[in-house]
Amino acid sequence: MLQLFPHLRFETDETPASWAARLSVLHGCSTLRTFLSDQGIASSDFLHGRRSVIDRLCEAAGQDAAPVWHNTAASVGNQNFTLRAEPLPASMMVREETRFCPLCLHQDDLLGGDPGICRRDRWAWSLRVVTTCPEHGIALIYRGRDHRDKMQRKLIEHIPERGGALVALAEKATRREPSPLQTYVLGRLEGQSGPQWLDGQTLEQSVRTTQMLGVVMAFGTTINLGSVDRDGWDLAGRMGWRWVAAGEPGLHSAFAELQAAAFERGQGGQNYFTVFGHLYRWLLEPGNRPDHGPIKQLLRDYILQNMDVCVGRDLLGERIERRRKYSVQSLALQSGLHPQTLGKVLVERGLIGAENADKPASILLVDAEEGRQAAASLSRSVPFVQLPALLGATRPIASCLIDLGVLTPLTRSQGENTRDKCGFDALEVEQALEQIHVMVPEMSDVPAEWVSLNQCSKRARIPMRDLLQMILSGKLRQIGRAQGELGFNSLRISIENIRLVAS
Ligand SMILES: [Zn+2]
Repeated sequence: MLQLFPHLRFETDETPASWAARLSVLHGCSTLRTFLSDQGIASSDFLHGRRSVIDRLCEAAGQDAAPVWHNTAASVGNQNFTLRAEPLPASMMVREETRFCPLCLHQDDLLGGDPGICRRDRWAWSLRVVTTCPEHGIALIYRGRDHRDKMQRKLIEHIPERGGALVALAEKATRREPSPLQTYVLGRLEGQSGPQWLDGQTLEQSVRTTQMLGVVMAFGTTINLGSVDRDGWDLAGRMGWRWVAAGEPGLHSAFAELQAAAFERGQGGQNYFTVFGHLYRWLLEPGNRPDHGPIKQLLRDYILQNMDVCVGRDLLGERIERRRKYSVQSLALQSGLHPQTLGKVLVERGLIGAENADKPASILLVDAEEGRQAAASLSRSVPFVQLPALLGATRPIASCLIDLGVLTPLTRSQGENTRDKCGFDALEVEQALEQIHVMVPEMSDVPAEWVSLNQCSKRARIPMRDLLQMILSGKLRQIGRAQGELGFNSLRISIENIRLVAS
């Protein structure tokens, strides 16, 4: 093999194609293709980063192959590449576009000589996520979209500016810090580590997750993705970074924020599209890259824990086996109750904030178990008028049991005769009766001077409420139940004992 002379050193920040293009100009070849073919190298092999041809060119140019190989994105087929042991899909790379920092090129030009020999295409510029020059803090400029084969000398063909014209370009360009996502990707390719959650994913997963979360956080859930331009995606990456850098807790907070925002808009329920927008849509796409990374499981878990789900339904690729939350609507539907009445019971039990009571039943959520219990209570509802008969009590006794909290109205209504309108859980009524039967034994020989609750209250001048409280607290000793009778009306009490306890 002929040795190329003069020597042109490979620079550690450039791509192999950049170096080969510079060599081709140095050696007076009209195109990169003819230059490579003179070295017995097929240009497509070179551009696909085939190891043997990289080695071959290095040998001819008297260049150590290690730094060249270090910057080579090698094709592994199917539009996939590997750069520094990181798999990279072609979609993450810029191969048919010219991107540059005018100040970097100006520095190159200042080295003197032919810009075709001096200008280097930085390997970092070939990554789509890199949008800002880390050295100069200005947005990269985009130019000349063309087929890859025609892009071999793009830095001179597409950028005629020299000297002051390059500086003028820099002055007009947007000044900004590199995005943390860009810094992360470049750092990772340089062997740095952290944040841990992102390090556990492929670069593609890390970048897509950050951008897709960021795009809904920055532009809302209804944004048309086609309308998001390069700067928009850059902003999305910056927005998403805040959450992904914090790992799983960060993602959880982001999901919660999106859900809270949807709730404010009166949206939610089982419509995960409206809550998470394109983030959810993206995770639904099977595409040719079905593995979205750990965000998919995180969002699935979040929805399962915090939203209304339908058992048996497929959620992001897995069947729902068990629900943790009901919406008032789905709970009403399942239990055959009116959503509005059920909603009132849930507010009464503090499962729904009273301030949210007028939100749509489809977005009001309750814990599944507590919700089921509330619905069951409502299904067993008995009206107040039936209480005396069920408790074996007078109407005033029933009222006192409510005042004492032994019986809880399922709902509280405003206005007159409210007690008549609100129902009571029949199970609670049964339990109150059971309690009194257990506490107070049936007696075959109740002393003749012992009296009923009503008589006791009147003769001892003790309000019924206080009397019941004394009985329920278990303080009374001389109390019994008339044989063969049930309920509160069957109780017999010694007035002497009452007076003693009351004093
Ligand atoms: Zn620069």
